[in-house]
Amino acid sequence: MIDLKALQKEVMRNKVEKGFNLTNTALEFCRAHEELSEAFSKHNKNQPGVAEEFADVMIFILGMCEDMGFDLEKELIRKIEINKHRKYKKEKSPEGNDVFIRIKTDEDP
Ligand SMILES: [Mg+2]
Repeated sequence: MIDLKALQKEVMRNKVEKGFNLTNTALEFCRAHEELSEAFSKHNKNQPGVAEEFADVMIFILGMCEDMGFDLEKELIRKIEINKHRKYKKEKSPEGNDVFIRIKTDEDP
């Protein structure tokens, strides 16, 4: 398994070294969103480079996690475990499509 904490630190080290934005958190969210939009645009146009845009998204997210003191690897493992145990009920939309509705529990409100 890769060490996301080490990647968080490497992303932050590069940001500091290059003099990239370290103070405007809103801009970092926007840049991550921009990179995801780039990925979708390339995917939608059947262009190469989608995975690289995903990597750009992750770089911004890893940087924000380091800046905010989050351990993304721990959060991913925790959330994937939560999702694994989530219960859903399947219903039909008015158009007749299957719709999955999460059943809230005390453990997963
Ligand atoms: Mg990009």
